[in-house]
This record gives sequence, structure tokens and C-alpha cells, in this order.
Amino acid sequence: MQAIFENFGIYAHVPFCSKPCGYCRFYKLRPKPEDIAEYVRVCAAEAGSLAREGVPEKIDTMFWGGGTPSSLSEGEIERLAEALGRFRPSREWTVEVSPSSVSRGKLETLRRIGVTRISLGVQSFDEGVLRSLGRAHTLNETLKAIDAVAEAGFENFSIDLIFGAKGQTESQWRADLRRAAECPVNHISAYCLEFESGTSCCGGITGAEEIEKRAREGDFFEIAMDELPALGFRQYEISNYAREGGECLHNLSTWHMAQWAGVGPSAASQFGGYRRRNAPNFEKWKLGIENSAPAYEDAVKLDDDEMFSSALIFGLRMNEGVDLSVLRARFPKADCGRYGESIKFLEGLGLLEALKDRLRLTRAGRLVADSVAVELL
Ligand code: SF4
Repeated sequence: MQAIFENFGIYAHVPFCSKPCGYCRFYKLRPKPEDIAEYVRVCAAEAGSLAREGVPEKIDTMFWGGGTPSSLSEGEIERLAEALGRFRPSREWTVEVSPSSVSRGKLETLRRIGVTRISLGVQSFDEGVLRSLGRAHTLNETLKAIDAVAEAGFENFSIDLIFGAKGQTESQWRADLRRAAECPVNHISAYCLEFESGTSCCGGITGAEEIEKRAREGDFFEIAMDELPALGFRQYEISNYAREGGECLHNLSTWHMAQWAGVGPSAASQFGGYRRRNAPNFEKWKLGIENSAPAYEDAVKLDDDEMFSSALIFGLRMNEGVDLSVLRARFPKADCGRYGESIKFLEGLGLLEALKDRLRLTRAGRLVADSVAVELL
């Protein structure tokens, strides 16, 4: 069987949101009437260009994220699938949908075109928390969307939850986790609001308040780590929990540093020895593709040192951690010795544990994974 790091995926960024949320760090825009047709047309051109660069037609996974892919109409969903149709995912095809924009018709269309997995952005089952997050949907819309996804027959169904909203209590968070686990889902993502936003949502707070906020987020994170496994969802990555076989293969491939190609503004790619990101700007992205001069940001040529470092840091996000002997074999020219001191230091702090060649975060390490990554960089 093919190793997971040999997978090839396509990520399509659908950048449209009818009501952008204040905390969101992803590239998005409110579409003008002509934008979606333009987007689909340019995606088709970008797919052709990626194929000429060597992206294989038979891929393992496809992921449409955003933005809000379900803000497209049924016809637009079909046209985007046609635009990317030269790439055929053999193992998994995920589409993110929002409770306020998904419908039975759109879900039937997604099934018909071959989508195998739905990720629903619930965020919370509590109306007060939803208001605090500034989300466009209501609890009623969430419940209808959950029924619609289940009725459409998607076996792989994930719910996204967020913790750390202003005023959110531990009991509200526990209730969200339990309610999500009662849904017909085999995957739950539990994200910290601050991580999602990439910035603090509480600008101007004092050091003491910051420490208190961090401690509170740690408490919420630990509640998820305790509650979800007890409800049958194994934690397999810092923010992700699944029933047996429900893990998201596309994201696993990313943490294993496989290869993927991005389509759409802001989408990242890593293949053929390079990593790059499309410009996070609709016009720049569109003009770049139309003029055969794609607008990339952060383009880097990948060598064994860079890949070893990325595979180590992202691999440690997974509960299984990394097998250093596999990484050494994959990236033989990497200077692995340079991590020795940091690994010992982190082991001494009880944040990392080594079992022969396998290295993984401890429970305490998972609470401060970003700081562990900084120490290893
Ligand atoms: S959180 Fe989702 S719906 Fe809100 S702005 Fe970001 S991508 Fe759009």
C-alpha cells in the first residue's frame, strides 16, 4: 500500500463568504455578481497550468475549502467540478459547507459529482456563542443542515467547533462537544478561536489578563481532550478527533508533508520540489493566471533540511508523532543532528517523549505545541 506521504492532493480555495466573520484569518471576499463565473473560468485555466507543471490526473484527495464553498449555487458547484475535472480523487473528496448556505439540492449535487466527505462549520450549538462569534447562521439552520447532510447519505461527516469565544463558559463548551458527538458524524474538529484568527481577539489586554486567557484556553483544550475520547472520538491531531477510520486523509497527507497543488487565491502548493502560495488577492490571482505569469508569494525551493524540519514540526501535531528513521530515509541530506539538544530539552520539560525512533508530544506538550515548534525551528 502507498505510504501516506506519497499521496497527492488538490486544495481548491473558494474565497466567497456572504458575511465575513471578524475573527477569520482566511482569505475571503463578498462576491460581486460576476465574480463566481470569473472564478470558475480562471480555476479551469489554473488546473490546465498545474497539469502542464506535472500535477497527476489521478490524485488521492481533493479538498474544497474557503471561504464558503457552499455559497456557490448548484450550477456553480457543477461548473467548478468540471473546471477541475481533469483531476480525479481516488480516496477522498471533502467540501466545507456552512449551515446558512447549504441546502438539500446542493448536497445532492455534491454527492452526484463524487464528493465523499462533508465538513460542516457548526462552531457552536449555543445561540449566545454564535452571536459572540458574529456567525451568520442560527441554531435552527445548523440542525437542519445536520439532518440534510445525514439524509444525503454522506458517510464521512465532520463538524467544526470553536472554543475561546468571549463569555463562553466551560459548561457551554462541554455541551457543544456532547451535542456534536450525538450527531451522525465520524469526525469533530475543535479549534481555538485565537488560533483561527491568528491574532488576539482581545486587543489591549494586560499581561495578567493574557495569562488568564491562555490558562482558560488550556482548560477548554483539556476538556476536549477528555470529553471527546470518552464519547468515542480518538484525538489524532492537536485539534482533530475521529471515530475509527474517520480521519481526514487530505489533512493527514499535509501533516505528513506529502504533495498537494492549490487552486484559487491564497491556496498553497507543495510539489515538484517547491512550496508556494497563490496571491491572497482575487484580482492579482486572476490576472496572473490569465497572463501566464502566476502571482505567487513565499515561493521556496525545498531541500532535505526544509522538508525534514516541516515533517518534524507538522508531524508532531499528530498524536502518533513522527518516526525519525522514516524521516531520515526520506530526507537523507538533512542535518538531523541539529535537533538533538532541543529534543533533549523538551523531553526534560515533559513536553516530548521518545520511544526508540518515534517522537511524540506528551499531553502537556499538546497544550503548547506552537511553543514546541518554535524551540525546534
Ligand atoms: S469563518 Fe468561514 S464563513 Fe466566516 S469569514 Fe471565515 S471562511 Fe467565511
